[in-house]
Amino acid sequence: MRILLVEDDHMLGAATQQALRDATHAVDWVLDGEAALQAVRCEPYEALLLDLGLPRRDGLGVLQALRRGGYNLPVIIVTARDGVDDRIRGLDLGADDYLVKPFEIGELLARLRAVARRKGGQAQATLGNGVLSLDPATRMASHGGATVRLSAREYSLLHALLLRPGAVLSRDELEGLIYGWNEEVESNAVEYLIHSVRKKLGADAIRNVRGVGWVVERQPDTAGEAP
Ligand code: CA
Repeated sequence: MRILLVEDDHMLGAATQQALRDATHAVDWVLDGEAALQAVRCEPYEALLLDLGLPRRDGLGVLQALRRGGYNLPVIIVTARDGVDDRIRGLDLGADDYLVKPFEIGELLARLRAVARRKGGQAQATLGNGVLSLDPATRMASHGGATVRLSAREYSLLHALLLRPGAVLSRDELEGLIYGWNEEVESNAVEYLIHSVRKKLGADAIRNVRGVGWVVERQPDTAGEAP
């Protein structure tokens, strides 16, 4: 997942960014509220991890501005242990979840998986479209009888597509979802990832729409057919 981390404490920010990167996420880190708003307007983040006590604009102000601006990306607010009023206010302003400092990285990762699932409209732990499934906790993917572990980048690619079944994503859109700032991206990196996922799961796992991009099919809907 491509994540924006907003944290003005240098030690905590650096440690959190490294831990999220170790868990295969693409993470950009900013240190104040105005920089956070600017970044969300420019990049396709899939989640925002938002400290509340921030210079230039506090976290609740950032959250309010984003929701008023129509940005509906998942937001997890990070609050002090005694910050129950902030947590209530944050949830009422549209935060999806919260974490209390100091938090365990394992809990943060589980909450990120949960908010991503809910935004994708899926309650189950495994993402899927009926023929293809992906377990975010283990990076194991299944398709047509094959079950394999994906590399970090392969996982990010398939995760981005499976959160939007039926939507054709271009190379630029996929790059934006897979890579963070300061990451070297080879010009054919997305094509290479598509190729390696197909090699593991079968060529028909991801469909190419010539000149446009790539798509995983929406689950066939058999329940809502007209009589
Ligand atoms: Ca702070």
